[in-house]
Amino acid sequence: MKQAALALLPGRSSQVFDVIIAGGGVAGLALACCLKSALGAGVRVLVADPRLGENEGRERAYAVAAGPRRLLERVGAWTAIAPKAQPIVEMAITDGGAHDAARPTQLRFVERRDEPLAHMAMSDDLTAALYARALALGVECARAEVAGFGLNRYTIEARLAGAAPRARLLVAADGARSKLRDLADIATIGWDYPQSGIVATVAHERDHHGRAEQHFLPAGPFAILPLPGRRSSIVWNESRADADALLALDADDFKRQLEARFTLKLGEIDVVSKPIAIPLRYRLARRFIAERLALIGDAAHIIHPLAGQGLNLALRDVAALAEIVVKQMRLGLDPGAAAPLQEYERARRFDVAASGLGMDAMNRLFSNDVPPLRALRDFGLRLVDRTPALKALLIEEAAGERGAAPLLLYGETI
Ligand SMILES: Cc1cc2nc3c(=O)[nH]c(=O)nc-3n(C[C@H](O)[C@H](O)[C@H](O)COP(=O)(O)OP(=O)(O)OC[C@H]3O[C@@H](n4cnc5c(N)ncnc54)[C@H](O)[C@@H]3O)c2cc1C
Repeated sequence: MKQAALALLPGRSSQVFDVIIAGGGVAGLALACCLKSALGAGVRVLVADPRLGENEGRERAYAVAAGPRRLLERVGAWTAIAPKAQPIVEMAITDGGAHDAARPTQLRFVERRDEPLAHMAMSDDLTAALYARALALGVECARAEVAGFGLNRYTIEARLAGAAPRARLLVAADGARSKLRDLADIATIGWDYPQSGIVATVAHERDHHGRAEQHFLPAGPFAILPLPGRRSSIVWNESRADADALLALDADDFKRQLEARFTLKLGEIDVVSKPIAIPLRYRLARRFIAERLALIGDAAHIIHPLAGQGLNLALRDVAALAEIVVKQMRLGLDPGAAAPLQEYERARRFDVAASGLGMDAMNRLFSNDVPPLRALRDFGLRLVDRTPALKALLIEEAAGERGAAPLLLYGETI
């Protein structure tokens, strides 16, 4: 990959930008691309990240929903991602025990208007495409940590090694352990789940035909998500202790345990990446804004990966903030003023809290084997399955298209 153009050289420490983004993960880079696509030379954007443009090198796959995909198309990043992404054309949901002989499908979603429900894309492919696009659009980049910030009268100053660029708005896109959130004294609310998500890539003999499956097993959801070729990504929830014990097994025993859940419907399976266990948490920042500061992505929220919505929520933050900043700047107004930041918080905090709590409720309802609860939830799933209008609503919700969604999620220009 092309080396980042380091905008911040010693001696040029007082550069002034419109927006500085701390964090060049998917959220930070996507925001930079949205702003430059809309405003071109009319906006100066700096992205600072010590690991900017580096591959994570891990097999981490994301389900990108339709709305966020349209945003990536709009900023010109999707053309590089699409050839490596796998469309999900069908999603089947089952409820049952790990060792049940059959797990009938309770609820099934299929693509509509010839548009896949989502696409599976690798984390490194997403960031590489966005980074290349950011450079092409003229986003200025610094491979440096934002170690702190300070407020001036009309600007906010970002503290980088050897440089202190200023901007009217600083965006914290610095992930779950956001330093900027802590420095702004924004507390989080939330809890740790007693579960971990085991993530791995599995090769199988037969084609998946773009079908994703979510099995609600007593220990938690077990998702099979199709990847290009005869491979799938799994997110397998177990109690933290069981997840650790599973990872401590030798390869053959681990595979046997996996087979019991994956089943052999796609033929023989092979685990082709090193499985890792990620402890699951729910966190919501008490505020998404502070003076001249906005939080996006994991810096603002971490939700249960049950429906693969974490990155999608991050891109919904991006769509909302980009639209507000662009509107302000086109009017010649200050993008870091209190009013636009409050508009951003109003637009996002409720949506994020509702999605997070929805995932939490689903997880609690399904992660058990209590017979009356199981009967009730299966009834609910079948009811949804037989109600096309409700299914369409759920698909729109997952795509981020419900209500007054930002224009970028409809693929429109801002
Ligand atoms: C098991 C599991 C499965 C998941 N599956 C899905 C899925 O299928 N679909 C989905 O949508 N989401 C999924 N998620 C959620 C997803 O991983 C996150 O929501 C997403 O990565 C958040 O992106 P981000 O850009 O906010 O943060 P990150 O990707 O964490 O990026 C933060 C960036 O900030 C940089 N940084 C950190 N500190 C600083 C600093 N001080 N200064 C400058 N830069 C800094 C870091 O180097 C990094 O590049 C899953 C999560 C888990 C745990």
